[in-house]
Amino acid sequence: MTEVIKIDPLAPDPEKIRYAASFIRDGKTVAFPTETVYGLGANAFDGEACLKIFKAKNRPADNPLIVHIASIDQLYEVASIDDSIFELSKKIWPGPITLVLKKSNKIPKEVTAGLDTVAVRMPAHPIALALIKESGLPIAAPSANLATRPSPTVAQDVIDDLDGRVDLIIDGGHTFFGIESTIVNITERPAVLLRPGPFTVEELKKLFNDIIIPDYAKGTKEAEVALAPGMKYRHYAPSTKLIIVENSEVLKRAAEILSKRYSIALLIPIEMLNDFKDYKCIVLGSYNNLYTVARDLFDSFRALDRLKVDIGLMLATPEEGIGFSIMNRARKAAGHSVVNKIEDLSRYIAI
Ligand code: AMP
Ligand code: MG
Repeated sequence: MTEVIKIDPLAPDPEKIRYAASFIRDGKTVAFPTETVYGLGANAFDGEACLKIFKAKNRPADNPLIVHIASIDQLYEVASIDDSIFELSKKIWPGPITLVLKKSNKIPKEVTAGLDTVAVRMPAHPIALALIKESGLPIAAPSANLATRPSPTVAQDVIDDLDGRVDLIIDGGHTFFGIESTIVNITERPAVLLRPGPFTVEELKKLFNDIIIPDYAKGTKEAEVALAPGMKYRHYAPSTKLIIVENSEVLKRAAEILSKRYSIALLIPIEMLNDFKDYKCIVLGSYNNLYTVARDLFDSFRALDRLKVDIGLMLATPEEGIGFSIMNRARKAAGHSVVNKIEDLSRYIAI
């Protein structure tokens, strides 16, 4: 049985937070909103409780969880820290960036999938922070979706995937950024970007001037060695076939050609709706403000599935700022089907 409670994200009711925190202390699973996406959490010190997360999500056991903390004191409990990491954490947290650090002995192997490192983040969301504080425990939490499905950005997404599989779902409205946190491994020098996210590459370069940005962070190819073990799995994917098209002229041609033979939907920015009046369209926010695109990106993939068409064609976003992270997710969601000129189309679909 899954219980669902509503909590106001701007002024979380302490009574309801106490109730949710009692689930964490009792070794149960709780889905909760963060500023990135919804997480499915359990006591990070309790290996048994964390196994319930893997089971609920069908998550492969070798894909470790992110540990969420609410204070720097808790950082010392979960990881081994020096002064430079302490200073860094004060600059970046709370916020949508996860650090991979050397783990402490208190973190069980279930959380880190046997690695000697642990991924840690302090979320900038009133409900997430209040829940961690009130339970008095760090909370291990991956995204609250079934493995391979797009990450959830509203409670209904969590209910659709996990109803009956978790103990409690907190409905705290829409998450703020809509894509998962940036992950940086700082156990290596120079630091390595493992997953791009809302904390942008431009901002990272200001913090670490020599940070390594591998090709797989762009999403143009998969990591050969899965540095963030989760990167090797199919991710973020709608069930509908999705193809990314890199410019609007090619998108027009592709839509004309494919609509003769298939039912299609276009994922395009609001400023282009007029140009594609004759087609089913899903609005991806405005490409002049990519935060509006990130916020609803995964919902747009879920919406695509609801339309039950044969093919979705998404117009690529610019790759600056959060656009870099959007395209990382989009390329993966499309299984790397990316069309730059119309001749490319037949590589991915019979025309
Ligand atoms: P999720 O929160 O669902 O996006 O999943 C957590 C992500 O963090 C996955 O991609 C994991 O592979 C990654 N992760 C967690 N712990 C570590 C670690 N110790 N080293 C590298 N990546 C990690
Ligand atoms: Mg995930």
